Amino acid sequence: MRMKKVKNVLTLYTRNPNLKSPLEVLLHPFSSLLSRHKRQLNFGSLVRTMFGVDSTQNLNQPQQFRTSRHLNDQSPNKRPNNVFNNGACTHKFDWKTYQRMDRIYSYLDCLAFHYVDRMQIITIGKSYENRPLKVVRIGNGANAQARNAIWIDGGIHAREWISPASVLFIIKRLVEDYDQFRDVLNNYEFYILPVVNPDGYEFTHTHNRMWRKTRSNPRGLRRNNRCVGADPNRNWSYEWGGKGASPNPCDETYRGERAFSESETMAVRNFIMSRAHRFKLFLTMHSYGQFILYPWGHERMAPNNWRQLELLGATAGEAMREVNDHRYTIGSAAQVLYPAAGGSDDWARGQAKIPYTYTIELPDTGRYGFLLPAPRIKSTVQEAFVGVLAMVRALNQFP
Ligand SMILES: [Zn+2]
Repeated sequence: MRMKKVKNVLTLYTRNPNLKSPLEVLLHPFSSLLSRHKRQLNFGSLVRTMFGVDSTQNLNQPQQFRTSRHLNDQSPNKRPNNVFNNGACTHKFDWKTYQRMDRIYSYLDCLAFHYVDRMQIITIGKSYENRPLKVVRIGNGANAQARNAIWIDGGIHAREWISPASVLFIIKRLVEDYDQFRDVLNNYEFYILPVVNPDGYEFTHTHNRMWRKTRSNPRGLRRNNRCVGADPNRNWSYEWGGKGASPNPCDETYRGERAFSESETMAVRNFIMSRAHRFKLFLTMHSYGQFILYPWGHERMAPNNWRQLELLGATAGEAMREVNDHRYTIGSAAQVLYPAAGGSDDWARGQAKIPYTYTIELPDTGRYGFLLPAPRIKSTVQEAFVGVLAMVRALNQFP
């Protein structure tokens, strides 16, 4: 990193490949702070404030407020949640309960702030109700052009609460225990979106625990709440509108007005397509049922690399079974369950041409269903992490 001070503008240059232009930070009101910190050659915390919070939205704008608060505040106790302490992220996030979006966002910000060398947040778009869609990038920047990226998402279906919890746990482990996973991180870069459908997820916390869809409402159908939103996992363009996807807005599996009518699916599509050639593995986490499903979902047939898909899926299934003795069924989605067109896994395989794409249906098998009790979160997210890690470690052996 190089720095240059011109009058009251501090310009930071970075080697971070995600940052396309130099960064200008206006520090005029705090020039005495600037000079003190300059003497100490201690820009680390300032840089973390800049880079850790959001690497697309905020970087081109001056950040006087955040920066000044950080530089000004000499008392750690005054800092919100101790989020800006040196060292590890001390956010009080846990897996004892299912967390709300505000906590999830602040936790991600905290991690990105403290682990700027390995994690960045990329806001890829907004939900219908204007919540940011924050993709976490984890990696060390090696082999950035090779086909070495992995996509993981959760929370596309609002009521499947164990899914975002699992994806957040995967982020935590990869970031905090980075050294244990150097083998993986030397070979792969992760792009992880913990909550694809944040509006629906919040709605399940505030209004209707069993809500599944997005909250879009292009035609103002508030008279009947049931008819709001689309099923974001029937909204993808590959074989959109086929079997198992309803044209009726009042149905749970409503496909949407057209493919990618939902801002959430559109944002993910645009992001993945901008680097589709780099993705080798695409994982989308759902619940419930304990299935590891590969394409196709729209029709009862298997893609040409189904043997490899089966083998890699089995690797995850075996690893997961060792954690809590839960058995997973592995197979092609339409064959194991039922045909459902317009799913993200079919799109990832058929359109984005990602060779290994899976839908993982987390526990349980139906006793609690979507309402998996909070005391079971910890063991379940551990199981999910072990399965994903086994899959990623085995991925090298697959073409
Ligand atoms: Zn689902």
